[in-house]
Amino acid sequence: MTGCWAYGSQGSIPTEVGSTQIKRHVRLKVASVRAVYPNYKHTAPSWRTHLWQIVVRIETDAGLVGWGFGGGGKSAVEIVNGHFAEILVGKSFDSVSDISDIWDYLYAESIPYGRKGIAIMALSGVDLALFDALGKAESVPVARLLNDTPRRQIRCYATGTDTDWYAERGFTAHKMPHRWAGDSSIETAVGVAEKMREVHGPDAEVMLDVYMSWDLAITLKMHDALKHIGLYWYEDILTPDDLAEIGSLRRKTRPVKMAGGEHEFTAHGFAEIARTKAYDIWQPDITWCGGITAGLRILEMAKAAKAEVVPHRGGEPWGLHLIAASDCEDFAEVLPGTRGAATDDLWIGAPEAVDGYIEPGDESGFGVEPNSDLL
Ligand SMILES: [Mg+2]
Repeated sequence: MTGCWAYGSQGSIPTEVGSTQIKRHVRLKVASVRAVYPNYKHTAPSWRTHLWQIVVRIETDAGLVGWGFGGGGKSAVEIVNGHFAEILVGKSFDSVSDISDIWDYLYAESIPYGRKGIAIMALSGVDLALFDALGKAESVPVARLLNDTPRRQIRCYATGTDTDWYAERGFTAHKMPHRWAGDSSIETAVGVAEKMREVHGPDAEVMLDVYMSWDLAITLKMHDALKHIGLYWYEDILTPDDLAEIGSLRRKTRPVKMAGGEHEFTAHGFAEIARTKAYDIWQPDITWCGGITAGLRILEMAKAAKAEVVPHRGGEPWGLHLIAASDCEDFAEVLPGTRGAATDDLWIGAPEAVDGYIEPGDESGFGVEPNSDLL
C-alpha cells in the first residue's frame, strides 16, 4: 500500500474552524499505571511459561483507560509497576509525537538495565496502552491515528502444524514450524513442505520457520532438498547474533527469501539488521520491539533499506493496526493452533481471520478488552 502514515502527526481532535462548534482539545494525563501477568493455562512449555505476554493498564486523570500488551512475563510486570509507573504518572500527551517523546524518555531511563529484551518488552506494553488511550480519547481506531485511510481487509497467513485445517478455513498462505533435530530432519522438512504445497495448491505462499536451529551447512543442504517446493521464505535460520552469516547465506538461497527479526528490539537493533543486510523480510513483534512507536521507526528504516516488513504475530490487534496504517506488506500472521485445541482467549473483541483475510475493527483504540477471568 502507498500509505502515508503521518509519523509525528498531531493526531488531535479535529477543530471545525469557522463553525460555531469547536471541540475542545483534550490533553491526557497519566494517573496510574499497572501491569499484570495473566493467569495463562495454555502457554507452550518453554520460556513462554514464565515470560509470556503481560497486560498493561494506564488510566488517565479523566478516568479513561488504555490497555496495552507487552512481553516479558513477571519480570516485565516488575519493570512496569516499579520503575515505569514511578516516572510515568503525571506525564501528559495528546498526540502520536507526544507518545514518541514518552517512549524516548522511558527508553533513556531504562538504559542501565534495558536496550533489548525484557525491558523493551515492558516498554512495548506501555507504548501500546498509551496508543489505546489516545485512540479512545479521539474516538478513532489506532490505525486512524496514523493514517486517514487505513487498509481494511488484510491478507493473512497461518502459522502452525495443522495444514488440512488451515486449508479448510480458507487460508492461502501457511508457515510451518520445523526445527532441526539431526539428519532425519531433511526428510521430515521435505515431507511437511510437500504436504503444504499439495494441500494449499501451486499459488499459495508456503514458508518454513526453523527457530534458529540451522547452521551454514544445514541451510545449504536444506535449500537443496527443498528447492522443488517453491518456498516463499526461510525464517530465523540462525540466531540474531549471526546476522552477517545470515546476510551471506541470503545470497545463496535465492529466490527463497530470508525472514527474521522477532528477537530484535527497537530501531537501534534493526539498524544492525539493515547494516548486515541479513533479511529480505523484517519481522518486528509490535508487542516486544517497542510498540507502535518503535514499529514506525523500524518501518522508516526498512524503507531506506528496501526491506519488506511483515510483523511477527501481525494478525493480533497491535500489529494489525500498524499493518493497516503503514507500508507493511499486506500479510498478517495468525496463529490458529490446531483443530479442537483449547486456547487462552485473553482479548475480547480481537478480530478473527475469515477466508484468509482479517480486518481491524472500527472501535476506538485497539478495540479490545482483556478477559477479566484471566487477570
Ligand atoms: Mg518465527
